[in-house]
Amino acid sequence: MHRLKAHLALEESARRDGNGQLLSRLTGEFHVLLAEMHDNSLLMDIMRRLVTLSRLIIYVHESPLAHVCPEYEYGDLVAATEARDSERAGPLMIEHLDHVQGGLRFAPEAREDLDLGNVFTSPKV
Ligand SMILES: [Zn+2]
Repeated sequence: MHRLKAHLALEESARRDGNGQLLSRLTGEFHVLLAEMHDNSLLMDIMRRLVTLSRLIIYVHESPLAHVCPEYEYGDLVAATEARDSERAGPLMIEHLDHVQGGLRFAPEAREDLDLGNVFTSPKV
């Protein structure tokens, strides 16, 4: 549980510093950390792949008004996980993923400001 809370502190720092590239990587890693808690190598492998693909989709299609992976949702997820309250954690995760999906816009116009290298390179900490 300590790792999750330490991770949330890193996210908060990235938010405070306005480091969107780092925040994007960290919010994805949060989901991998949750998967690691189950000590299931197949789940972790699947989650790592999903997070990478999700970061790419979010980068290309995120609405400028969206706040992907809001901090308060992660705090609630950590609290439910810490309490081993799966009745609460499951719906919280579904709600969180609904928010992420709701922040996407699949507009047909091409965006010229995209640099996909931002998704796959290590951000400055
Ligand atoms: Zn998330």
